[in-house]
Amino acid sequence: MTTHEQPVDSVLETIGRTPLVALQDGPEDVQCYAKLESFNPGASVKDRIGRYMIRKMLERGDVNEGGTIVEPTAGNTGIGLAISAKQLGLDAIFVVPERFSLEKQQLMAALDAEIINTPTDAGMGGAIERAHELAAELDDAVVPQQFSNPLNTEAHYATTGPEIYEALEGEVGAVVAGCGTAGTLMGIARYARERDPNTYVAAVEPEGSLYGEFLDEDREEGEYKTEGIGTHNIETNELFEPDLVDAVHAVPDREAHAELERLAREEGHLVASSAGAASVATKRVARGISEGEIDAPHETVVTVFPDSSERYLSKGIYRSFEEWEG
Ligand code: PMP
Repeated sequence: MTTHEQPVDSVLETIGRTPLVALQDGPEDVQCYAKLESFNPGASVKDRIGRYMIRKMLERGDVNEGGTIVEPTAGNTGIGLAISAKQLGLDAIFVVPERFSLEKQQLMAALDAEIINTPTDAGMGGAIERAHELAAELDDAVVPQQFSNPLNTEAHYATTGPEIYEALEGEVGAVVAGCGTAGTLMGIARYARERDPNTYVAAVEPEGSLYGEFLDEDREEGEYKTEGIGTHNIETNELFEPDLVDAVHAVPDREAHAELERLAREEGHLVASSAGAASVATKRVARGISEGEIDAPHETVVTVFPDSSERYLSKGIYRSFEEWEG
């Protein structure tokens, strides 16, 4: 796995089979690993759902060649969908709230997608509404809707989960991942729990996000700079399955930022804030296993680093915490 040594016919065939790399800062007796999703052609975890959802929607006849994908997206999903849409004969339109990073919007446009901005104040809700209006105006258009589409979770159940299992020969003690749509974590967690119901599963959100309320944890709503994970309204998330989750770790922006800087400086990982938060939570879970507070079937913890820091340079990701725009 992870190598693509044979020539392939299309960039779509280079999606997935990303490296799983040991992390160096956890407790000695518990090994942490991160799956590096920036190795995908669109440089994020979302290439996986782009390919999976579009192939399935074409197969089912939800949309046909020559039709259009319309998606409200913060960016990485747009890039992932744009790559597969074009290669599989579809047009793509993305509805993006203004606050999201400019790099992502430029990459979507380079991939021949059309971008429509909605006001930051209207949030993701405003973008979702606009996407549905647009799709209704077009002839053969579909809104994949990553926040409620089970194909999102299925993509990770079909690819990310099995890849992790294969790499660790089944010795997966705990799974930790940030939740935006929660598709990544749910897909891996479902795959892991089917193989070992005792696999420990932890979700990660920024402090200020409300995912913890799914597990009746106290949360105070607030703003956060960490991009790609978190929710202000758990009712709009249809993919998060509380039964698959043991804990939801809230990570303060400041800790996520310090960790992404440390990961670059000490371990050579050019990753963004959601990976910083995932790494902080991964070490917390590893310490819990090491100290006997968390029961896990193996002394291993696996997380996902969803994308790369290069996508956030214009927002000052490597400036000081205060100067980082988030
Ligand atoms: N990190 C980043 C940078 C993302 O773009 C996303 C997707 N919103 C995530 C993490 C979370 O992935 P998921 O939507 O599968 O929960």
